[in-house]
Amino acid sequence: MTCDSIQDELIGYQFATLDASTRTRVEAHLICCASCVREFVQLKRDIEQPAAGPLPSKESRTRLREEIARELAGRGRARMRRTRFWEPSFALGFAAAAMIATVGITYSINSGTGNAPHSLRR
Ligand SMILES: [Zn+2]
Repeated sequence: MTCDSIQDELIGYQFATLDASTRTRVEAHLICCASCVREFVQLKRDIEQPAAGPLPSKESRTRLREEIARELAGRGRARMRRTRFWEPSFALGFAAAAMIATVGITYSINSGTGNAPHSLRR
């Protein structure tokens, strides 16, 4: 991976949103590239800066904003999981089955002659 592609992944690395293989590649690169480590440390500082402290430089804020926008527009959308068409009906079917089973169990418990509602009547 090139320094540019690593630096594109640093925010994802910081927030642990990378997939395992990308994360491994970023870590391997950071071990042997001083320039990317400096970039990462600067990024961490920018992100973790307390609100009362001095603001990050204009360049890093712009870069951060661009990275977040790219993250949200690109892979964020692609990774968003769509609900399968059959999942809502499956959930509904399961809920209906659970309700029918509950009614059945309740009926069978209460319909016996020796159980509370009937035995109290006598
Ligand atoms: Zn590098």
